[in-house]
Amino acid sequence: MDKKLLDILVCPMCNSKLNYIKDKKVLLCQFDRVTYPIEDDIPVLLPERTTRLTAEQLETLNG
Ligand SMILES: [Zn+2]
Repeated sequence: MDKKLLDILVCPMCNSKLNYIKDKKVLLCQFDRVTYPIEDDIPVLLPERTTRLTAEQLETLNG
């Protein structure tokens, strides 16, 4: 995904910067503990499309 695009993307729920998780092809919001899908290289930043993470999953994603 485009690094420049990634730099300007923020979470629509909390306006925090998102982390791109390359392995999973998702965007992670640490604060809301959710991931957003990336479909055909287009980030889908819709609250209804998020996947809620457990603390354990969040730790795994953060490596
Ligand atoms: Zn957020």
